[in-house]
Amino acid sequence: MMEKLYLDNSYLKEFDATIMAIDSNIVQLDRTAFFPTGGGQLCDTGTIESNNRTYKVLETKKSANMVMHTLDNVEGLNLGDHVHGKIDWQRRYALMRLHTALHVIDAVMVKKHNGGQITGGQIYEHKARIDFDMEGMSKELVEQIIAESQQIVDAAQPVTVRMLNKEDAAKVEGLARTAPGAELLKKLDVVRVVDIGDIDFQLDGGTHVANTKEIGTIKLIGYENKGARRKRIEIALD
Ligand SMILES: [Zn+2]
Repeated sequence: MMEKLYLDNSYLKEFDATIMAIDSNIVQLDRTAFFPTGGGQLCDTGTIESNNRTYKVLETKKSANMVMHTLDNVEGLNLGDHVHGKIDWQRRYALMRLHTALHVIDAVMVKKHNGGQITGGQIYEHKARIDFDMEGMSKELVEQIIAESQQIVDAAQPVTVRMLNKEDAAKVEGLARTAPGAELLKKLDVVRVVDIGDIDFQLDGGTHVANTKEIGTIKLIGYENKGARRKRIEIALD
């Protein structure tokens, strides 16, 4: 079982590991801090060092619950080699800040404005968007939601991660905010929950900042009315 270090510690920037498999330019490790693309969050990039050589990690993907690291080349790497991994922290931290910001916005929509289900979301390095099913959305309301989200950010709420077993998770209503999330919840034995103070909790596999104040300033960069119940909010951070 490979250890996904990013699930326990979003702030881990470097780690040591052993090579478990090499297939063309793709390397599997026994443990990793590289977050693979998933749940709307883009993957980490960075480097691994081994035998005094540095290899670029171009992409990280999940496959059958394993993390696949695509390198620029694997010359000189062998099974069982020890490696030192370093993630591109600037990129990861930007993704973390945006991911937590989307959860804050989501919480404001659901709790204060009777928001419907989240139908999609994507976190890029410099911006993020959230799609949702909600009636009666206007530009004024979107601006109000962003302003209320900023108040939560400025109130420096702690963001924490906890693990629930299947039985306990089943007792909590509203853990999954999306349709794929609800499907996933049925299959999981251990459920990872991200809490933002007492404002929000949800099933989540992403990396988050430890405190909302790290988000900074939320800027509304776009709002789209894609249909009666299909809306999109796009944000960036300062
Ligand atoms: Zn999330």
